[in-house]
Amino acid sequence: MSAEQVQEERIRKLNDRPAVPGDYVLYWMQQSQRADYNHALEHAVRRAEELNRPLVACFGITDRYPEANLRHYAFLLEGLAETHRLLARRSVKMVIRRGPPEEVARELGRRAAFLVCDCGYLRHQKAWRAHVAREVPCGVEQVESDVVVPVEAASDKREYAARTLRPKIHRHLSKYLVEPEQAIPYKSSLALPIAGLEAEQLEDWASWRNFPADPSLKTVSPFFRGGATAARETFEEFLRGRFSRYPANRNQPQTDDVSHMSPYLHFGQISPLELALRVTRLPPSLQQGKDAYLDELIVRRELAANFVHFTPDYDAFSCLPDWARRTLDAHSKDPRNPLYGPEQLERAQTHDPYWNAAMVEMKVTGYMHNYMRMYWGKKILEWSPSPEMAYRTLLALNNRYFIDGRDPNSYANAGWIFGLHDRPWGGRSVYGTVRSMSAAGLERKCDIDAYVRKVERLAREAGESECG
Ligand SMILES: Cc1cc2nc3c(=O)[nH]c(=O)nc-3n(C[C@H](O)[C@H](O)[C@H](O)COP(=O)(O)OP(=O)(O)OC[C@H]3O[C@@H](n4cnc5c(N)ncnc54)[C@H](O)[C@@H]3O)c2cc1C
Repeated sequence: MSAEQVQEERIRKLNDRPAVPGDYVLYWMQQSQRADYNHALEHAVRRAEELNRPLVACFGITDRYPEANLRHYAFLLEGLAETHRLLARRSVKMVIRRGPPEEVARELGRRAAFLVCDCGYLRHQKAWRAHVAREVPCGVEQVESDVVVPVEAASDKREYAARTLRPKIHRHLSKYLVEPEQAIPYKSSLALPIAGLEAEQLEDWASWRNFPADPSLKTVSPFFRGGATAARETFEEFLRGRFSRYPANRNQPQTDDVSHMSPYLHFGQISPLELALRVTRLPPSLQQGKDAYLDELIVRRELAANFVHFTPDYDAFSCLPDWARRTLDAHSKDPRNPLYGPEQLERAQTHDPYWNAAMVEMKVTGYMHNYMRMYWGKKILEWSPSPEMAYRTLLALNNRYFIDGRDPNSYANAGWIFGLHDRPWGGRSVYGTVRSMSAAGLERKCDIDAYVRKVERLAREAGESECG
């Protein structure tokens, strides 16, 4: 494949070292956990060809991933097993080892002629890559493949809101919204004697049960199964049936007229580029849905990447805009009635059946409809002793229960509850001028009782699958 086929704005040198004599080119997979629509992988294939080396991919499974628990690991392992097999079909050996990702990459990087890694925007993901780039003897390049428009190509600063990022993204779409070419590695690495876990070992779930991650949470496999195949099946089903109702129903939590792609996007098991291209090819009669979906998938999602990339304290209350912190602070002594602590909230024991249903949905399925996430978050702000405590509680619950938690979207949307990427609204107790939401609004705008019944059914299904 030619140099132009991975756009140069996606590629960043992480050190100044050249290629060195080595046994293979190493693709250290961490964020883009997939075998296709993966610019980092394609770039690594090209580097391997240039250097006349086989390509080896590696992945380190740490049992200390920040805030990860068994439901996250189950989803991760399901996806990795499939990626392992798909890469083998492309003659690429995938070496999966238990250990800190940066240590696994460093160890295998010692024998590499060149190292290519993918891109993550969170603090620890950046730190891991910087560590590997410092420690390995060869050149290291990072390739950004989990956004349609590379973050710094879209903007060189933290954006105020979707409305300021949108035109910048649209300016670049024709350049980046293109099918990446898939190259065939010209040398197989499958016979290289490098120890790692096989796909079957990843799927042997019983052997992972003693993983020192929080065991108190159940996996959510009955609702979400990890991997690219599951992602594509779910997406195609959405496009065939529910997509035509997306514009009307995406704020209707009693329906399921949304794509459920966020867990797969979070783990990089599906590429946003693949989803976006698939949507652009739908017939013009679905234009309203196409525009609405692409705005969420590209503009809203990449606003979150922009926020996390340009905001060092993206997970702290201090990241909020000044106006929002000032108004919340001015109302921090307003009486809270009711007032709930984190444990009561986590047990879904509030007076509000709608909020409790939302909490149950996230606990049993690992997912929650976007409209309920907004309501759920706003009420945590309203019912907690202080805005700072509300912010901490919200993020902790979000990242513990959602499979798509711990994502740039988690931090940008937690922030949105407290005014980030939004503007001041009419003043209210506790919220100040931060936008509020009410149960009466839910009752007016959607069939909220049907949502409560839907969650009761999901909870029953979860219970039945446990017995089975
Ligand atoms: C308080 C709160 C917490 C949230 N926490 C998370 C989180 O931890 N992880 C997460 O991925 N999303 C989070 N979101 C954003 C949004 O709710 C989910 O991305 C969306 O519900 C995922 O469902 P879907 O894939 O079916 O969405 P669809 O409506 O089918 O949208 C397709 C894709 O567009 C993107 N998208 C949709 N809505 C948003 C949005 N508001 N902001 C950014 N991107 C969006 C997502 O990548 C999504 O998968 C949160 C929202 C709120 C209000």
